[in-house]
Amino acid sequence: MKREAILFEKVEDEKVRCNICQRNCVIPGGKRGWCMTRVNYKGTLYSSIYGEVSSLSINPIEKKPVFHFYPGSRWLSLGSLGCNFRCPGCQNWEIAHWKEGPMPSEYISPEGLVSKAKATGCMGISWTFNEPTLWFEYTLDGAKLAKDNGLYTNYVTNGFISERALEMIAPFLDVYRVDIKGFSEKAYSRIGQIKDFEGILKVTEKARQKGMHVEIVTNVIPGFNDQETELRGIASWIKSNLGPDTPWHITRFHPHHRLSHLSPTPISDLEKGWSIGKDGGLWYVYLGNVPGHRNENTFCHRCGELLIERYVFEVIKNRLEEDKCPRCKTQIA
Ligand code: SF4
Repeated sequence: MKREAILFEKVEDEKVRCNICQRNCVIPGGKRGWCMTRVNYKGTLYSSIYGEVSSLSINPIEKKPVFHFYPGSRWLSLGSLGCNFRCPGCQNWEIAHWKEGPMPSEYISPEGLVSKAKATGCMGISWTFNEPTLWFEYTLDGAKLAKDNGLYTNYVTNGFISERALEMIAPFLDVYRVDIKGFSEKAYSRIGQIKDFEGILKVTEKARQKGMHVEIVTNVIPGFNDQETELRGIASWIKSNLGPDTPWHITRFHPHHRLSHLSPTPISDLEKGWSIGKDGGLWYVYLGNVPGHRNENTFCHRCGELLIERYVFEVIKNRLEEDKCPRCKTQIA
């Protein structure tokens, strides 16, 4: 559905600037922005994907992955079309790299979404699968309504949202699950076609300051962001700017899309990344896409006790007692 956009400004003649994400596209009349989902019609910007749902499912929150927010809870997950990145190894490229033409989607109103979440016993709504910022107007309406109805809300994002957009949605967003894909211009330009990734770090810090629960994911791609300097940079930034209690998920890349020729990330490289995180002072470092690995589990950062046992996205056993370690009584973030 087409809906007038928010956060755009007129520049000159019919040109407008979109301020939803950090690309800040200047879009002439009759044209679309970089993401192809926002169109300038006679000097007014419209989102063409308001409520256009391409994928919908109910998942445990661990699938996002989010490990420190109501472990084992069920969430309604949905995505639309388009992205402001073009990651060559994108797992969801069929929807995320959509450009124009017929939309493989179905309209669901914000009210319909909230009713669905409640009727299916979900604890909250996750905007995921494609970049949630692109249908910002819809996620904002949906998040407000979700909060009014006692549901939690979650963005699974590449973090390229503008500061203004984040500030606008912050009062209605509980969880900010953000990718930090590397720690150099080189890594970001190869993965996301952007050079300046400082803005992503800055907005993530803001999300934390605004009180959102933040978890970080780095999908380690051989030859792109698997160098020690990249992983050390991320670990040290997390500790200094978000705090040692911020969970960091280091996930295994599986060959996909335009990176089908690569091999999956060697598990030994992921384990090196895990050690970098732990040696760097982070309390909760996880390995993802490695079923059965010991570091899918949560351990007490003080005494080492096994607290939450997982297998892939399932919580097998949760030993926490009122969010505390049963052995040394340390409060777990
Ligand atoms: S949301 Fe789309 S149109 Fe707007 S600045 Fe980002 S890429 Fe450009």
